Amino acid sequence: MSEPSFVHVVPLAPVEGVFTYRVPPGMAAEAAVGARVLIPFGRRSVTGVVVETGAPATEKARDIVDVLDARPALTPELVALTQWVAAYTLCTWGEAIRAALPGGTEVESRRTARALVSTWPDADGVAVLDALAGRDGVSLAALAEALGRPTAPLSLLRRMEAAGAVTVLDEMQQARARPRVVRHLRLASSGDGHTGSGSVSGEKQRALLDALAHGPLRQADAFARSGASASTAASLVRHGLVEAYDAEVERRADGLDEAPLPPPDLDLHPAQVAALDAIVGAIGAHEATTFVLDGVTGSGKTEVYLRALRACLDAGRTAVVLVPEIALTPQTVRRFNAHFPGLVAVMHSRMSPGERLDAWTRIRDGRYPVVVGPRSAVFAPLDRLGLVVVDEEHEASYKQFDPAPRYHARDVAVMRAHRAGAVCVLGSATPSLETVANVRAGKYVRLAMPERVPVGGRAPAPLPHVRVVDLTREREVRRLRGALSFPLREAITARLERGEQTILLQNRRGYAPVLQCEDCGHTPMCRDCAVSLTVHKTTRNLRCHTCGRAERLPQMCPACGSAALAQLGAGTQRVEEEIADVFPEARVLRMDLDTTTRRGAHRTILDAFGRGEADILLGTQMVAKGLDFPRVTLVGVVDADTGMLLPDFRAAERSFQLLAQVAGRAGRHELPGEVLLQTRNPEHPAIRFALAHDVAGFARHEMAERHLLGYPPFGRLVGVEFKGPHDRSTRDLAERWTAALRREASAIAGTAVLGPVPAFVGRIKGFWRVHTLLKAPRTLPAAVLGAAVRRVVAAVPVPNGHRVNVDVDPVGLF
Ligand code: ADP
Ligand code: ZN
Ligand code: ZN
Repeated sequence: MSEPSFVHVVPLAPVEGVFTYRVPPGMAAEAAVGARVLIPFGRRSVTGVVVETGAPATEKARDIVDVLDARPALTPELVALTQWVAAYTLCTWGEAIRAALPGGTEVESRRTARALVSTWPDADGVAVLDALAGRDGVSLAALAEALGRPTAPLSLLRRMEAAGAVTVLDEMQQARARPRVVRHLRLASSGDGHTGSGSVSGEKQRALLDALAHGPLRQADAFARSGASASTAASLVRHGLVEAYDAEVERRADGLDEAPLPPPDLDLHPAQVAALDAIVGAIGAHEATTFVLDGVTGSGKTEVYLRALRACLDAGRTAVVLVPEIALTPQTVRRFNAHFPGLVAVMHSRMSPGERLDAWTRIRDGRYPVVVGPRSAVFAPLDRLGLVVVDEEHEASYKQFDPAPRYHARDVAVMRAHRAGAVCVLGSATPSLETVANVRAGKYVRLAMPERVPVGGRAPAPLPHVRVVDLTREREVRRLRGALSFPLREAITARLERGEQTILLQNRRGYAPVLQCEDCGHTPMCRDCAVSLTVHKTTRNLRCHTCGRAERLPQMCPACGSAALAQLGAGTQRVEEEIADVFPEARVLRMDLDTTTRRGAHRTILDAFGRGEADILLGTQMVAKGLDFPRVTLVGVVDADTGMLLPDFRAAERSFQLLAQVAGRAGRHELPGEVLLQTRNPEHPAIRFALAHDVAGFARHEMAERHLLGYPPFGRLVGVEFKGPHDRSTRDLAERWTAALRREASAIAGTAVLGPVPAFVGRIKGFWRVHTLLKAPRTLPAAVLGAAVRRVVAAVPVPNGHRVNVDVDPVGLF
């Protein structure tokens, strides 16, 4: 018998540390780095991942229960990457590993209790036995609930167990996501059903054999094609002509099974050639360079990604393309798939756990060398990585907040590529200030594409003409009542007359964001969140956009009984209503969270718009990004001020980016475009620079401002969010925590602690929220910062029901 071996395992739980386990002799080969294992942990069994083999032997080490993967789930490269993510974002290694695995595949034990007797001397025990009676194992959580207690009565259960009245067992809970196995049919290898063998009787049988002649089919498909039934199949199986067997099938939700579009063969223009040469050169030389593809909308960035992907695949390497979830439109997906049919795996948040597992498993097995997906795809289990593209790198949705790890997929992408010797390409028409700073510092290489793609041999399509409509003036001088100003109406009319299309952005859904009593001033607020309720007219209710609760739209003021309730402000539903009033003949499609809840709705709307079945596409920021429709010549921003004045140092940057993005939807092809921005703040920098398409000018202006305040990219921030069920207890926790943080910070030069202060939205889903901010110099090593914060975490106890969320490099401060 060979010597037992030992491994280091990280449990997939929010606990710090790496634990040593003994590997039973039969499992030694499978318990490799990156493999998932079932381990005893405390009194339970949990899933963990092996992070190191050949660990020193220890007496105390317990045995691994089982190895869950025949092939390790993670490559050693990903195991190391998650360790970096944990150290940088200040979470546990287990939390970081969890982000790199498909959800719902953990196996955990839960404890269940069973009754062995029917009586017990005291009432508490009787209540337990009643709750367990006649059932084959009740989880302790369910038992607690049945007894109306917060937790199960453990000491009572132990006494009852000792007396032989109940048993408490650990039971493995199945993973939620498992491979799907489906019955298939194929021609039997020996039999040849077509040679008029006497055993084939009847049309149905022949039809089924014909259907299978070209290869195996799922049983259901075979029946559908041949009209045969289960009994037909059974009789063919009995006669040895057909075999039935079970095989794993892939669940796909991306619509990629359809015939791909033929990729157009384009001649790259000079700026594209220069960018592509630099990228392909670095891939060929295995140089881990980070490029910033800084190109205006419509300059042909995606075309460059596609060619770079081709070069990467030709070199036998793999690639990840990150796109913001919101831009993961069928248009984008089809474009990638058309170039690499059968080689692209798509991941997105609307996939079921099963679909995700299937995609993930196949990527790991090397079936798909290209992965397109939102932020979590940065952890795609690819080997021989050659290229990581982050499209629209400035997008806030690349940052994960809940649950930990609070990582920024762009930063992880840069790090992953760097460690793998791969090239990283960050693309944007409006690069984030962090990225601009890294270019200035010489860490990233900028590739500029300042002009739109020339169409049909003509000069490049000029960027659209942008105009500002001053809403204050419109209201005061021209007595505007609705949301659409006279200049915007005229512009829309012109499009309707010419048969061109319009995109209208109103970055607020619902009908009216605020309901207010004209007599007493009362505004209905959410019971659980510190936000006003939005009027939804189509469903006639009031809804909280923070927690989702809905209540009936009141007819009278709940405070004073007055019937004079004013619906203030305009959401997409109200703008839609106004369009119907002003342009009764216009065909309108509305795209927001409410019209895209059904699966595929997003695609249906865009396809209809693309086919010219509507004149106006109205929506929230969903309409601002990644769309490319040749007949769109007008973009109207109904309220450019939405979000611009939030108390967040990034508010101006985000507004500018959104305006620049949506402006880029107009006039992308032969027809010239025009953009109208309606605002009450025509002098705001986000508006002024958007007017001139002056991305560099905005960056310079905003950088100066950030420099003055020591904000990113000049300083580094750590945001701390305290959450709790009571106002007082949450503030107390924040005070104690912040005081401890101040003591730590006082030892680090250049740091400052701001807060605690109530969060901008002071309550969400019943939880009170308080914030503290730590400002530190950019040059402070992450390890120093991390050690200080971890000491605070260890020193300050967090009461039950309270949470402390530490967010390094936060993207939103409210
Ligand atoms: P971006 O990603 O920068 O917004 P795209 O790559 O989507 O730009 O290009 C915009 C449009 O121009 C697309 O319809 C694309 O097919 C087309 N296009 C890109 N490069 C060329 C080229 N070299 N010649 C002709 N058309 C091009
Ligand atoms: Zn009132
Ligand atoms: Zn709410």
